[in-house]
Amino acid sequence: MDPISALSAIQGALDLTKTALSGIKSIRDTNAALKTLELRQDMLDLKEQLLAAREATTDLIQENLDLRSQLQAANELEHDENGNILWRVIEGCKRGPYCSTCYGADSKIISLSGDDDGSWFCPGCKNHYHTKEWRAEQTQKHRRLADRFSR
Ligand SMILES: [Zn+2]
Repeated sequence: MDPISALSAIQGALDLTKTALSGIKSIRDTNAALKTLELRQDMLDLKEQLLAAREATTDLIQENLDLRSQLQAANELEHDENGNILWRVIEGCKRGPYCSTCYGADSKIISLSGDDDGSWFCPGCKNHYHTKEWRAEQTQKHRRLADRFSR
């Protein structure tokens, strides 16, 4: 082989090596790009899991607040046999009355309507509540009316 042909062959071999090296570089770049995409997908998955965990935590916090509120109300409520009603005692102050049926069924604290004469009505379950004194007074009224009409 003459020197010019030998140099030309060497130059060809160098060009081939350069091409091969640039191919390897582009494969490396492609691998890096794929790795970046995988990492981005992993980050998106983690963000999604984080949002779900945050939502679950928010729900649990709200549920905890509701349960604490119900527990506090349960501790404040006093059942009154006379009328089968509930009173809420907060720092020594008696508030209410409230419906024992609605509280017993759904833990709802529903204020009773009435004029504090011993007779109340629940706007929720439509039950009527009366004290023994109110019943006795009604019985006396009926007797008086019956006496008046029987004469
Ligand atoms: Zn009720």
